[in-house]
Amino acid sequence: MTKNFDFLMPSVNFFGPGVIEKIGDRVNALNMRKPLIITDNFLAGVADGPVAQTLTSLKKAHVEYVLYTGVEPNPKIHNIQAAKKLYQENKCDSLITIGGGSAHDTGKGTGIILTNGDDITKLAGIETLKNPLPPLIAVNTTAGTGSELTRHCVITNQATHLKFVIVSWRNVPLVSFNDPMLQLDVPAALTAATGMDAFVQAIEPFVSTNGNAITDGLCLQAIKLIEGSLREAVANGHNIQARTDMVQAEMLAGMAFNNADLGYVHAMAHQLGGQYDAPHGVCCALLLPAVEQYNIVACPERFAKLAQAMGENTTGLSTRDAAELAIKAMRQMSRDVGIPSSIKAIGAKPEDFELMATNALKDGNAFSNPRKGTKADIIKLFQAAYDQE
Ligand code: NAD
Repeated sequence: MTKNFDFLMPSVNFFGPGVIEKIGDRVNALNMRKPLIITDNFLAGVADGPVAQTLTSLKKAHVEYVLYTGVEPNPKIHNIQAAKKLYQENKCDSLITIGGGSAHDTGKGTGIILTNGDDITKLAGIETLKNPLPPLIAVNTTAGTGSELTRHCVITNQATHLKFVIVSWRNVPLVSFNDPMLQLDVPAALTAATGMDAFVQAIEPFVSTNGNAITDGLCLQAIKLIEGSLREAVANGHNIQARTDMVQAEMLAGMAFNNADLGYVHAMAHQLGGQYDAPHGVCCALLLPAVEQYNIVACPERFAKLAQAMGENTTGLSTRDAAELAIKAMRQMSRDVGIPSSIKAIGAKPEDFELMATNALKDGNAFSNPRKGTKADIIKLFQAAYDQE
């Protein structure tokens, strides 16, 4: 039976080529007087890139702002502390994040410690935030994590190598911008990694224990779009249709997992990301086939539907055989976009598997995985992702 659910997303998402021009007016409409802009050094330096275009619109609208350019991939606690300091020193009143998941999560994390207390590690978990964050607009530049739409904030504790998640409706940005033109120059490897993240974020909610008819529809449409556009976006980044399809797909997947949750791929990917500081999308892609092979027995009919959404011909096959085709299609997608074959490629070491398995089972994403595993099962899954050729 379908569980009760709260369907969460920003109040407005501006979508389409050129929409970034509207940001200045929207900032004024929201009465944001002095936003802290949160981005990274690279994006801040790109001529006519996402940051430059945002600033042009803000200047036209006479918006005063302060710039923080210290975002790192897999954002760390020290990033949000530095951004908070700048926010307070300059008496800012709101946040604008520009970038991929790392920028948005740095912005959410900054907002969290501005209004909910300094020690963010104590806030890990679900619905722990008592106070609202300052107004936050997310300008998204990867396709992608969906973080511009989601209630998740993923931060890494450098001291413990643990990536933890604060899940709260208060984290959902007020407004988000998804302008595909901002993504035309995303390099192929980054397009592949972020696209595989979106792919996993469409697959895991479809087999999660918390799905419903709305999230099922979002997942299947996201998968179809990714099947039809990710290879092309990697091969030819200036194909606007492929970029547009990937942006819509990552939004669909973001809405799906925001409301149906994820599974062991994400619970385990957070361990790889925290331990080896590896790109999140690559970690997810490397774990996907092994984890979903393990999950098939819990819901073979769901995997058969995934195979069809991935364009596999399942006519005349048993449900189990059709389900196997979904795993084959996942492996093929990873290979086609150039993801390495084994977690050896990101420096994973078997001696770390036990600790990572213990922590993966505590990650909030583990609770909605369709098959309930033991620590020994998770160690075997890390081993399978290590051994795969
Ligand atoms: P990212 O934000 O870490 O960015 C990776 C690199 O891409 C950066 O160096 C950045 O400068 C560059 N980049 C970004 N946009 C670009 C553009 N348009 N052109 C050229 N280069 C560009 O990558 P990501 O995959 O978007 O985010 C990963 C992070 O998001 C991880 O920490 C992951 O755990 C987290 N995440 C969060 C959620 C959520 O809902 N909050 C969901 C999934 C993942």
